[in-house]
Amino acid sequence: MNPALQYFRNIFDSAYTVFDGLSITFSYLFQKPVTLEYPNRNKKKVQDTLPDRFRGFLEVNHLTCTTCDACAKACPIDCITMDGVKVPGRKGKAPVYFYIDISKCMFCGLCIPPCPTDAIYFTKEFEGSSYDPKQLIYSYVSDETAKEYLEQNRILQMEKEKEDEGEEKQ
Ligand code: SF4
Ligand code: SF4
Repeated sequence: MNPALQYFRNIFDSAYTVFDGLSITFSYLFQKPVTLEYPNRNKKKVQDTLPDRFRGFLEVNHLTCTTCDACAKACPIDCITMDGVKVPGRKGKAPVYFYIDISKCMFCGLCIPPCPTDAIYFTKEFEGSSYDPKQLIYSYVSDETAKEYLEQNRILQMEKEKEDEGEEKQ
């Protein structure tokens, strides 16, 4: 091809390519978006759309947990820690702290079947990103609850000591 013609042909091709690409880009300005902005524009809460057996963050019911340690022993990566005290009218011990390090948890579910009281279970919650790994150590017993259990345990101990003293005197 004639060099002059080739020169103008190149200019034309470059301009055409740019406008061809941009025409596709601009066409999206007039189309209904196929993506939804998460989470604000979803009609339903995402958690409500998940299957029943979805494995989200673990939850622990401190009211039924007996601090038996079965879940912690079953966990292959030791991310569950707890301790408890005896309180009146309750089997086992009531937890005064119960932590799960969610940053280590691999959602295998091995901790759930051994629980004798179904106190530990998966939820559908999965939004927990954090810049601080310490915030991913989830606590399932509040300070107030722990104080209450410790107080109940103190009263129980006092009653037991009184009983023991009474038996010794007899
Ligand atoms: S789901 Fe698995 S890794 Fe997570 S706490 Fe339970 S046993 Fe441990
Ligand atoms: S297995 Fe159940 S009852 Fe035992 S410590 Fe774990 S959550 Fe509590």
